[in-house]
Amino acid sequence: MNASVLVVEDELDIAELIKLYLEKEGIQVLIAADGETGLEMLRGSSRVDLLILDLNLPGLDGFEFLRILRKDFELPVVIVSARHEDGDMIMGFGIGADDFVPKPFSPRVLAARVRAHLRRSRSRQSDADSRLFRFGDCVLDRKSLSLFKGDSRIPLSPREMQVLIYLSEDPGAPRSQQDIYDAVWGQDFGDLNTVSVHIQRLRQKLEDEPSRPRLIKTVYGFGYTLNTGENV
Ligand code: CA
Repeated sequence: MNASVLVVEDELDIAELIKLYLEKEGIQVLIAADGETGLEMLRGSSRVDLLILDLNLPGLDGFEFLRILRKDFELPVVIVSARHEDGDMIMGFGIGADDFVPKPFSPRVLAARVRAHLRRSRSRQSDADSRLFRFGDCVLDRKSLSLFKGDSRIPLSPREMQVLIYLSEDPGAPRSQQDIYDAVWGQDFGDLNTVSVHIQRLRQKLEDEPSRPRLIKTVYGFGYTLNTGENV
């Protein structure tokens, strides 16, 4: 698994044990002996996909560390602590941790939980990536079926939304009127003019100058394409 984990732990033998087990899984491990160093590493150039955090730390304690961290970072956090009684509090009060593993712990179990959190956060990330489509100053959310231009939500009819989603599936690729008609209306024989009517309506809503469209371009003699280039 290609991932990087930061262990914030002042007991070096524990940190090294975690490192040993995670490296067996192909996970890169960084160690910080206190919270201040940990924050520096996160804010620096180090890429970190998940954090393993001890609570009893010199200087900044684990809770303070987590509070500061959550202002800027969304990565999964697994707390490893001897303070068993803290477990409920962490999970119950939403202090910003994703998991709690009491000490003493089995390194194999910890490694398995780390793997599970990494997988989960990865699939969340790729969901978000495939869901949001950006073009020009617009963002199309293909899951909630909403469209934003700058900060404003632009209301679209269901067919307008379907046309836009279809064009966004392979941005830059020209689509013929017939392709669009088949994909959105789903009949072999229909009035192809319906497509250009919907394209005009979309342009009225999306384009800064609907008569000189920059987002939904006409491909002369063929159809339409969605422009995601830098020149939009
Ligand atoms: Ca400690």
